[in-house]
This record gives sequence, C-alpha cells and structure tokens, in this order.
Amino acid sequence: MAHDSFRVHVTKDYLKFSAAHFIAYPGFRERLHGHNYRVSIGLHGQLGPQGYVVDFGVVKKIARRLCEQLDEHVMIPALSDCLTIREEEQSVYVRYEDDDFRFPRGDVVLLPIVHTSVEELAQYLAGELRRELDAEGVGPLAAIEVGVEESFGQSAIFRRES
Ligand code: ZN
Repeated sequence: MAHDSFRVHVTKDYLKFSAAHFIAYPGFRERLHGHNYRVSIGLHGQLGPQGYVVDFGVVKKIARRLCEQLDEHVMIPALSDCLTIREEEQSVYVRYEDDDFRFPRGDVVLLPIVHTSVEELAQYLAGELRRELDAEGVGPLAAIEVGVEESFGQSAIFRRES
C-alpha cells in the first residue's frame, strides 16, 4: 500500500504550439524550419483528501500558458555553444559561423537551453511547469514528466523526480 501511486496524464488538443527553430552545434546547422509541436504532461503523486493527485484545471491553465509563450515564435537557444546572439531593442541577431539571421524582437523567444531539440524543450517546459505548480501550491508530487512531439511518432519525454 505504501508504494501505491498515481500518474495523471494531460494531453489536450490545445496543448500545442507552432514554432520555428534550427538545431545547431559546432560544425552543423539545420536550415530554419518549423514544427507543429504537441505537449503532454504526466504528474505522479499520491491521492489527496479530495480524491485527486492534482487539480486538472490548474495544470491545464499553466500548460496552455507555456504553449502560448512559444506559439508562432522563432525559438533560439540562448545557451548555444555555437551561436552568437545579440539583442537590440527592435531586433535579435543570431550568427552561426558565416550565416547571419536578423529577426524582429517580438518574433523571437530566447530559451535557457543549448539546443532546441525536443529533449531540451521538454526539460525546459518541465522546469517552468514545476515552478508554476509550486507557485500555485500544487503537490507534493513524486515526479513530473513532460513530453514534446515535433512530428507524428517523433517525441521525447523528460522526467524529473521531486
Ligand atoms: Zn526541427
């Protein structure tokens, strides 16, 4: 009995975002392209006195907001080891070797990751979700999982134990 636990899973039609990105690491860069990403969330924990692990409404609200922050943006990994990123008031300049990009500031979201792979996106989203769940007083949770799918059948799931 002491080892019983539940996993609640949230996959909703609106947990998605369309965004542009390219993978880059020293010696390699993809061309700029986009995906219709889908996000799923798994939360592990014990039943609370109300009969549920978490309030689905709270989780959905947070997850939807996280997706909206990325939707219709160019995702740039601010911690990249091969991109030089310069922010100005109106523009974001991104350089990879001899290639230069210039984006309107409002079109870009700079993410605290090294690559915009589904793995690192899932890890980033899990951190944001964790922070917001804590702020809402949700928990305690044994683990949280975030899945990010960039195309059908191609996804990564990040899991963090509490
Ligand atoms: Zn891609």
